[in-house]
Amino acid sequence: MRVQLLLVLLLKLVENAPVGRHILMKKYLKQFGYDTDNMPMAVKNFQQFHHLQINGKMNEETLSMMDKPRCGMPDDIYNMAFHGPVLQNRNLSYKVENYGYLVPSEVDEALKKAFDMWQNYTELNFKHFKRIYVMRVNFNRLNHGDKNDFDGPGQMIGHATPPVNNAQSDIHFDLDEDWTWRGDNGINFFQTAVHELGHALGLSHINETDSVMYPYYTYKENYSLTKSDIARIQYLYGVRDRSIDNQVVNPTCIILNYNTIFVYENLTYVFRGKYYWAFNEEGYRIEEMRLINEKWPFLPSNIDAAYVTDSNKVIFFKGLQYWKYYKSRLLKNYPKLNYHGYSGAPERIDAAVKWNNTLLLFKDTEIWSYEPGKGSTSIGKVNNIVNAAIVKGNDLILFGHRIFSRCTSINTNCIRENISAYFKCNIRNTTAVA
Ligand SMILES: [Zn+2]
Ligand SMILES: [Zn+2]
Repeated sequence: MRVQLLLVLLLKLVENAPVGRHILMKKYLKQFGYDTDNMPMAVKNFQQFHHLQINGKMNEETLSMMDKPRCGMPDDIYNMAFHGPVLQNRNLSYKVENYGYLVPSEVDEALKKAFDMWQNYTELNFKHFKRIYVMRVNFNRLNHGDKNDFDGPGQMIGHATPPVNNAQSDIHFDLDEDWTWRGDNGINFFQTAVHELGHALGLSHINETDSVMYPYYTYKENYSLTKSDIARIQYLYGVRDRSIDNQVVNPTCIILNYNTIFVYENLTYVFRGKYYWAFNEEGYRIEEMRLINEKWPFLPSNIDAAYVTDSNKVIFFKGLQYWKYYKSRLLKNYPKLNYHGYSGAPERIDAAVKWNNTLLLFKDTEIWSYEPGKGSTSIGKVNNIVNAAIVKGNDLILFGHRIFSRCTSINTNCIRENISAYFKCNIRNTTAVA
C-alpha cells in the first residue's frame, strides 16, 4: 500500500499545472478503455462505471479511485459484461513459468484454489503441468514484451490474455507488487489470480463491486463468486454435472454403463464418465481404474465413441467434435468439428471401429460404412443399440447393454454372450477391489 499514493502525490504536484495533470489523466483513462477524445465525457463514464459522483470533474473522490490497485485490462464500458471467444476445450492445463520472489508451493496452492473456484461451477477441469499448457502464469516487471507494460508498485497488478482462436493464454502478475498469501497485508495473490483467470476464460470487467470481475482490488474476507459471476461463466462453459464428480463408480469390472471401448496397443480400454479401465488380451484387468485425463490430457469425460486408425492414432468422438491422439499426445489443432474430418457421417455416433479396411459407424440401430470424401452408406441394422465396437482376431465384437455379440460378418453369424464373460473381474497378480 506504501506506494499507492504515488498517483495522488503526482497529481498534487501537478495540481497547479493543469496541463500536466490533464495528460496524466488522459493516459490513465485511455489505458483502461475510456474514449479520451472527449475528456469530460471520459471522466463521466469512469465515474459512472465506478459508482462515483458523476460530474466530469477530476475531484478528490475520482483521483483516489484511480490510485487504487487494479487489473490492467480495460473497463470496456461500451460493451459491458461482454465476453469474447471461449476456449473450446473443457480440460485445460496450466503451467507456472516463474515464481518471482514468491514461494513456489504457496503460489501453486493459491493458483489451485483459484482454478477450483471456476471449476466448481462449470464443466471446466484444470490441471497443473510442468511442461504442456494452455494457460501460462508468470510474474513480470515493467516492460515484459507483450506491449502491456506493468507500472512498478501500485496501480496495475495483473492482466491476462482472453481466449483468441483457442490459442494459449498468458496470465501475468506485476512482480513489483507487495504480494501476500493470506489476509490483507499486501495484495492478496489468490484474489488477483481468480480475477485474472476470469479474463483468461473470456470474461470482461463488470461494474458490480462485489463481483470478482470488478476491476479494482479490495481485500475480501470470504472471497467467492457472486451469482452474476456464476451465471456469466456458466453461460460460457456450461453447468457442472455434479453427478459425474460424485459418481461412485464400482471399481470392479461389472461393466454395464460404459461410454466406449476400444483396443490400443494390445490393451482394451473401457471408458466411463471420467475414468478408464485397461484389460489385457485375455480380458484381465491390469490396473485400478484411472482418470482418463491422466493418460489422455484434455479429453473430456463421457466420450461417445473411439477407434484406432491405420496409422495408430486414436480418434475420440463426443457430440459434434473429435480428438486425435498419438499415444498420450493430442495432435495439433484438435479437437476439430466432425464436419471437418467426417463430413457426411451421422451426428453424435454411438460407436466406431475400423474393420477390414472399412470404418464402421453406429448410430441408433443403423450401421454405416464411412469413406472420406464419399460420406456414409447405410449397410444394415442392429436389433439393439451398439455402445462400442472392437475387432478381436478376425471377428467384429459389438458391445450392447449387458451383452456382446461376436460376429464373423457385419451383424450376421453373431454369437451373443453376457458381457461379464468378456471382462474377467479379478486383477491378475493384484488384490481385487471389492
Ligand atoms: Zn481485470
Ligand atoms: Zn503481460
